[in-house]
Amino acid sequence: MNNITLMIHYGELSTKGNNRKTFIKMLAKNVRQALKGFSDIKVHYDRDHLFVDSSDNEIDEVIARLQEVAGIQKITPVYELEKDVELWKKKVIELLENVEASSFKCKVKRVDKTFPMHSYDVAIALADEVILKKGWKVDLHTPEITINCEIREKKAYLSCASYPGAGGYPLGMNGKAMMLLSGGIDSPVASYLLLKRGIRIECLHFAAPPYTSSQVIYKLEDILTKLSIYQESIRLHIVPFTDLQVAIYDKVDESYCITIMRRMMLRIAERYAKKRNCLAIATGESIGQVASQTLDSMLTINDVTSFPIIRPLACMDKLEVINLSKKIDTFDISIRPYEDCCTIFKPKKPTTKPKIKDCEYYESKFDYESLIEECLKNIETRIYKDGQELKVDHINE
Ligand code: ATP
Ligand code: MG
Repeated sequence: MNNITLMIHYGELSTKGNNRKTFIKMLAKNVRQALKGFSDIKVHYDRDHLFVDSSDNEIDEVIARLQEVAGIQKITPVYELEKDVELWKKKVIELLENVEASSFKCKVKRVDKTFPMHSYDVAIALADEVILKKGWKVDLHTPEITINCEIREKKAYLSCASYPGAGGYPLGMNGKAMMLLSGGIDSPVASYLLLKRGIRIECLHFAAPPYTSSQVIYKLEDILTKLSIYQESIRLHIVPFTDLQVAIYDKVDESYCITIMRRMMLRIAERYAKKRNCLAIATGESIGQVASQTLDSMLTINDVTSFPIIRPLACMDKLEVINLSKKIDTFDISIRPYEDCCTIFKPKKPTTKPKIKDCEYYESKFDYESLIEECLKNIETRIYKDGQELKVDHINE
């Protein structure tokens, strides 16, 4: 069993100036959390890199797990070896065994000046071995593979490959948002993009029982289990939306029902987000996708709040969103049939250019404020940790 150190290159650190320390500490905490299931792991860091010491029998799993942690740009496995060129040649070939490429270069750094060979000669020795065994060409300017060898006082350190990280910022670095989570394809993907950007989430779901069934909640639970890879513990707040929705469909012209319903959702989301110390609301909306997501509609819907609304998918195509949902493994859950409160009372002809004045006219016809208060009072919160429900509170905590 060899000792391997994974050298982690920080994500968008350069833009963070004074926040460097916070960034690194948060990343170290999140990395420890992500690797808590592995034995013999040691996490340490300096100004330039974070290091994970591991043993080579679990290394593939550890790398795969690290690739999901936000705030990491690149992961480079570094092998610690005795100071013996023959050993390094053997190790390089072993590490490159399944690697397809045609060009490479060797970079050797001799920190221990008493080592009997010069850097250049070590580089030649390693390169000759690769040319002989792999048949690749040396390319000093744009090599496909770079072999690094650093000769220090006690040992030598060898690396041949790097793995891309998720990028972004460590989770928690950029505050918390209230994510409007439906059972569709889009909102889980939007959640993932927020998490990757270092934004924690709490989720708000509008349920309209008995028109919507508890199957939706099971779907959400499965989605939260997938998202728990990125944020271990997630709150799901379920809003009992039926009475307000029925009132809308009773008082409002059919073509405006969806617009008014969305305005109500935002009013509730804003108040609850503030209460939960969230700095923004987030949705899975994408411009032009449906009637309520035209820019005209967004303007009219957005008019009820001045709170920031993040729409990570605003300019993405459905196909891009689907690909991402497959990547994070929520696609198969999202396509399970379900009724959303939005689809259940779907009007035949929703307006794509709703006017603020008309909304205000329809809203003046009923006492929506007290219905909103009722919704807020009766929100049910569930907490999921690693995808398991922790407790059920019928509360306004
Ligand atoms: P789809 O993949 O079907 O588009 P969706 O989740 O995007 O799923 P939309 O009807 O397009 O559904 O809704 C746009 C956004 O509004 C959602 O991404 C979500 O953020 C929010 N939303 C819709 N319905 C609900 C709901 N029942 N509870 C909470 N948020 C909702
Ligand atoms: Mg959508």
